[in-house]
Amino acid sequence: MSTPDTLYCYHCRTYHPREEMRQLETKTGKRWRCIKSIEATQRGKADRDAYGKQMTAMNKAEAQAKLRLIQNTSR
Ligand SMILES: [Zn+2]
Repeated sequence: MSTPDTLYCYHCRTYHPREEMRQLETKTGKRWRCIKSIEATQRGKADRDAYGKQMTAMNKAEAQAKLRLIQNTSR
């Protein structure tokens, strides 16, 4: 699995183009999160609603995505 141009977004639980991502320090280590989701959170709930719908749709893949994240981070 070599996708150097996309990074896993722990917020959306999916992959985005690298140029849309920002690396954040968390207590569990460095994580990538898309700028869109950061701005949406800062702006407030209108955009958060849209993201909430997306995340609900992606919840099914959450377990698999977490496994991928672990593999991705340790690479
Ligand atoms: Zn994202």
